[in-house]
Amino acid sequence: ANRKLIAGNWKMNGLKADGLDLASDLAGRLKGAGPVVFDMLVCPPFPLLFPVGEAIADSPLALGGQDCAPKTSGAHTGDVAPTMLKDAGCRFVILGHSERRADHGESDAMVNAKAVAAHKEGLVAIICVGETEAQRDAGQANAVVSGQLAGSIPAGATAENTVIAYEPVWAIGTGKTATPDDVKAMHAHIRAELNGKIAESAKVRILYGGSVKPNNAAELMAVENVDGALVGGAALKADDFWAIATAC
Ligand code: 13P
Repeated sequence: ANRKLIAGNWKMNGLKADGLDLASDLAGRLKGAGPVVFDMLVCPPFPLLFPVGEAIADSPLALGGQDCAPKTSGAHTGDVAPTMLKDAGCRFVILGHSERRADHGESDAMVNAKAVAAHKEGLVAIICVGETEAQRDAGQANAVVSGQLAGSIPAGATAENTVIAYEPVWAIGTGKTATPDDVKAMHAHIRAELNGKIAESAKVRILYGGSVKPNNAAELMAVENVDGALVGGAALKADDFWAIATAC
């Protein structure tokens, strides 16, 4: 089995004091815990990356961005380059989250270009895929995810520089989680799709995201081919996020 990655996507939540408290708390728990069976990652909003990065620099807690531009620099008002994420201490970047696909019209091709730029900087791209409720009801979940994987994963992807996050849109922020059977089936499908696209595809970490909470984490993390979690709401409280991680 792959080492679990427990990733917190803070989305557009928290000001500097909140972010520093949360990250310092988690970094302290990680340091105090000794050897653990998971990697832990926090992905704060852009303005918090530098202060949070400095606060956790000497801890095993990893830092990531929630998006990046497909370019290194230049006249792109409002965009943030992968080089800037690196500079702030990031090792990871979330790409193609369904909220960005919905709010900003991000296509698979755009996600692919962003992943290329992230990889060029040595960042690990966490590429998000997942179907809507209507697509699942229409029996299209596998086909939708296959299309997203085919379009979003760039040629240079490896098991080291790429993580896949399966986040069914209908499970995000709704309190509805996919059943362990549904998660098992979709993660097996994703694993099969990665075969041939990425060398050593068995080593690519596939995260589940969508209403992961302390009370369902153990069950979900025990599912075959689930190599961690991408957590939204429950990542904003140190107790909850820590409980999810230690449920692995
Ligand atoms: P919730 O855990 O709040 O459902 O969010 C999941 C998510 O979108 C993480 O990226």
